[in-house]
Amino acid sequence: MPKGEPFKIKMVEPIRLISREEREAALKAAHYNPFFLRSSDVYIDLLTDSGTGAMSQFQWSAMMLGDEAYAGASSYYKLKETVTDITGYEYVIPTHQGRGAEKSAFSQLITRKGMYVVSNMFFDTTRGHAQLAGARPVDLLMDYPTDEFHPFKGNMDTVKLEQFINEHGAENIACIIMTVTNNSAGGQPVSMANIRETYRIAKKYGLLVLFDVARYAENCHFIRMREEGYADKLPIDIAREMFSYGDGLMMSAKKDALVNIGGLLAFRDEELYNKVGGAVVPFEGFLTYGGLAGRDLEAMAVGLREALDPDYLAYRVGQVQYLGELLRSAGVPIQWPVGGHAVFIDAAKFLPHIPWDQFPGHALTAALYLEGGVRAVEVGSLMMGRDPETGENVRSPFEFTRLAIPRRVYTNQHMEDVAEAVINAYKRREEIRGVRFTKEPKVLRHFTAHFDLV
Ligand SMILES: *Cc1c(COP(=O)(O)O)cnc(C)c1O
Repeated sequence: MPKGEPFKIKMVEPIRLISREEREAALKAAHYNPFFLRSSDVYIDLLTDSGTGAMSQFQWSAMMLGDEAYAGASSYYKLKETVTDITGYEYVIPTHQGRGAEKSAFSQLITRKGMYVVSNMFFDTTRGHAQLAGARPVDLLMDYPTDEFHPFKGNMDTVKLEQFINEHGAENIACIIMTVTNNSAGGQPVSMANIRETYRIAKKYGLLVLFDVARYAENCHFIRMREEGYADKLPIDIAREMFSYGDGLMMSAKKDALVNIGGLLAFRDEELYNKVGGAVVPFEGFLTYGGLAGRDLEAMAVGLREALDPDYLAYRVGQVQYLGELLRSAGVPIQWPVGGHAVFIDAAKFLPHIPWDQFPGHALTAALYLEGGVRAVEVGSLMMGRDPETGENVRSPFEFTRLAIPRRVYTNQHMEDVAEAVINAYKRREEIRGVRFTKEPKVLRHFTAHFDLV
């Protein structure tokens, strides 16, 4: 097997590491919040893998074919045929990004205040939209320790799922959301067996299953590598089987669809399409463009297929694993095994002297930026926010610092620079201090809060 990336680079974007003094000044000016850093002050940007990937020459050339007709554009039909081919779902609606799909779907599916929506684990905007529509989101993730190997740590606890349905009644559950890969649990995959069993239970009780499927291709790769009976199957065949165990999908196209902006809804039956489509028109735009330009639809149609290329997937997931190995072999505590799109550092273990409500995962993002100009993000109690009733901080089961790897953007040499920054911070971990708020917004506070070091 060749070791190199399965592409060569045709266009470059210069980056540089500014001096330590400049990084200190930039971090202070950003109120110790990585979302306020200018990207030109960042050397390696691992804030997110969302919309940050590099498009291929095939995607760029497809953009020139964009049909900008308001309705019924040929670009829409190319996208629709691709989605139907991969998923089997006939009814396809583009949206401006994943949260546009969530808002449209939940506003129609959640018909009563106080209904439940059940998931292996909600992504934050998905949880937010379920709540905005009046529902109570419930996570039923299997419980696995962060440092113990399990091939599918994103799985739904199907025993708890059936208990939950029996306890609360199927009529009080709007739908089941199957998140693959499971972003909030560390980009961890979900097994085919788990997806199949969840669907079987759902159908037994007449419940709808929608995929939240930003990283469908990475999940197919993990199934191919780790689940018995799939080694000889192509990722696209695995995808087709996976989608057969659901009634539709909501998707952020900014991840595995390899585009910088976009989202999707797709459904197996017309009734659901009509119901949700009614909300798309006022929120997103007409059913065949959903807030996107025709050229965006073209790029998405190409990207959805490129993401299923076995060589691309081996490189992609392999690069994340490469960074994970560099850190683990140096003794840095990380979520193990690593997920498909990011390495999650276990900041509670990395910084045991920082209490959870001084946000160790966030304190570490500041340290990594100072150490090597690397931008990461906290996924932990800071992101959880406060209980709306008591006003208390909600404690997350994990305190993570996430290093999300953009697709086809950085080389493994960059990963070595990232590892060096993390390992240097680890050697000096006792000097790293917690943070406290100097300004705390009420909703989605992590994006715009200001901090000081404790
Ligand atoms: C990114 C993401 C979303 C939200 O999509 P946006 O395109 O950022 O609006 C929803 N669910 C999952 C699992 C995601 O990763």
